Amino acid sequence: MKSAKHTHRANCQNCGSLQAIDVLTNKIAKHGYTVKGWGFFNGVCTGSDRLPLQLERTYCDEQCSLQGHYAARLRETAAKYETGEIVPDTCGTGTYLRIQKPRNMWEQEEILVPFNEGHPYFQKKAVVSAIAHCNMGAGQREHYVATMQSLAKEIFSTAPIEVKAKAPLLDVKNGLRFKLDNGKTFEVRSLVKRGFSKSLNYAVCFNVNSPEEKLTISKQSIRIYVTKHGIVGE
Ligand SMILES: [Zn+2]
Repeated sequence: MKSAKHTHRANCQNCGSLQAIDVLTNKIAKHGYTVKGWGFFNGVCTGSDRLPLQLERTYCDEQCSLQGHYAARLRETAAKYETGEIVPDTCGTGTYLRIQKPRNMWEQEEILVPFNEGHPYFQKKAVVSAIAHCNMGAGQREHYVATMQSLAKEIFSTAPIEVKAKAPLLDVKNGLRFKLDNGKTFEVRSLVKRGFSKSLNYAVCFNVNSPEEKLTISKQSIRIYVTKHGIVGE
């Protein structure tokens, strides 16, 4: 049965997010990076259809090693920009073109020239921006590695999280008796519609000990009283 497919949740080895796992294979359900993007992933997460971090950490460690190396390379590149060992390919000019985009939107785009033909001010600006770009990418990846390694340390070889099946909603119907916090017992006489609801969301009730006392109350509130005090007569 499809509805009973996922009864456990566990963490993805690649992005760390908590996802449903397949009841037969234990593999992580297909998911994207919308929730936890890390700033450098996009599309379908490559941790999809793999065992979760609770059961296996090989893929997690591989990704951490990969991103760790990438971060180190970015730091090295930033250092080379700092010393002037390398320069960006292009730099800005301070002159902008207005570009028409779909739906009548306009964007400004700076005209770029080869780095060596640029004005020193814009060369400097391009170098600073290149360094910042490298350091930001490195920082995101270092943060990723630290977070995933600490998550792996914490949860690897622990059990996936069991998802409790939701209890069916109590059917509030005529004749149902419930107790208020003040001890009075009421019985549902009829169901009515209030507000913009498309369903019968309120119940007209009477006090079983003094039937002239009426109460109109939402089904949701009745469910809360039943959770607290039980159904009277059961
Ligand atoms: Zn993932």
